[in-house]
Amino acid sequence: MRVRIARDLCVGAGQCERSAPDVFAQDDSGLSRALTEAPAAEQRPSVREAASLCPVRAVLVADDPDARRDPWETP
Ligand code: SF4
Repeated sequence: MRVRIARDLCVGAGQCERSAPDVFAQDDSGLSRALTEAPAAEQRPSVREAASLCPVRAVLVADDPDARRDPWETP
């Protein structure tokens, strides 16, 4: 799994940080960023929860980074 935040979409709702505080953090602007692009196995359920709860679908998850398609393609 790889994950990133589409900061052009993020509205700073903070749900991702609440779901996975070890993976996401809001910066001084209030927008979120991923602290790691490659979450550990034990972090992945909370990353999926964050992606499902983000109101603007700004948490982008790629499950197969080795695939030929764009790994950041929105699932
Ligand atoms: S839940 Fe979505 S909108 Fe809210 S801070 Fe996280 S990425 Fe941004």
